[in-house]
Amino acid sequence: MERTYIMLKPDALKRNLIGEIIARIERKGYKIADCKMMTLDEAILREHYAHIADRPFFPEIVEYMTSGPVLAMIVEGENVVKGMRILMGATKFEEATAGTIRGDYAMSTGQNIIHGSDSIENAEIEIKRFFG
Ligand code: UDP
Ligand code: MG
Repeated sequence: MERTYIMLKPDALKRNLIGEIIARIERKGYKIADCKMMTLDEAILREHYAHIADRPFFPEIVEYMTSGPVLAMIVEGENVVKGMRILMGATKFEEATAGTIRGDYAMSTGQNIIHGSDSIENAEIEIKRFFG
């Protein structure tokens, strides 16, 4: 079964949105195969966000992503990598369509509630990174 790495970012936890977001994932028919609370450090973020590490906003992302715990999850289902990206909505919060998780909850692009792997290959790399 296809798997993806999903991470609820610190604002989702601070705003008590874990239940609502997991309900949407389950309602779609996906399974939460594993999950755990984690507090991230800069080293793992530099690895996870290597593709944005040289962008000017990266220090803010690190500050935000280390500001509180995240909920790391392995989510399973048919075509779940692409399906979760659709449920999540666009990266830019102002472009995320209503009805998507980011469209309904994100208040900025930096603090956009949820991470989801962007390919099957990256999903396996990210699952290994966060779950070992
Ligand atoms: N990000 C940002 N500004 C940008 C692009 C990205 O703050 O212009 C942040 C945003 O929180 C995003 C994360 O960096 O979720 C990782 O960027 P990516 O392009 O991988 O977007 P995602 O896969 O999360 O949709
Ligand atoms: Mg990404």
